[in-house]
Amino acid sequence: MPRMAHIPTRDTAPERALRAALERIGVGPIAANDPGLPGSPDVVLPAARVALFAHGCFWHHHAGCRCARVPATAYPWTEKFRRNRERDLANRDALLHKGWRVGWIWECALIGQHALPQTQLEAALQGFVAGATTFLDLAGTRIVRARVTDAPCALREGGYMAL
Ligand SMILES: [Zn+2]
Repeated sequence: MPRMAHIPTRDTAPERALRAALERIGVGPIAANDPGLPGSPDVVLPAARVALFAHGCFWHHHAGCRCARVPATAYPWTEKFRRNRERDLANRDALLHKGWRVGWIWECALIGQHALPQTQLEAALQGFVAGATTFLDLAGTRIVRARVTDAPCALREGGYMAL
């Protein structure tokens, strides 16, 4: 498998942005990277029984997001993305079954030109943590169909995904 196909693991820019937002709204304690839970959530709030994922739009193939374009290379991206998506859904459902509430906080909501305004991001997170909703799917301000000329976000926004 080529190196490009490896999903980046930890401490990505979206994860850091998510943790910073959680710290600003003062929720906690925050446990990072719990490997004992399905999918190893990026951030866990045990008291609120909330598990959060900072999903990279490219690797997790965010539907309708310009960051989720399929690259024009020989690598079987469509199959790769389909498997990633299935795994994400299975992990989410397993967490919900265990009584956790699950948040997918998309990269495009956290960083980049279509990121949510800080107050909006914080309000959404605060509302979810304090509320009873079981699943939050939080995207950036502008979900559009990808254009062929767009570079993947990992390339456009600083290469944090270790391509
Ligand atoms: Zn996205």
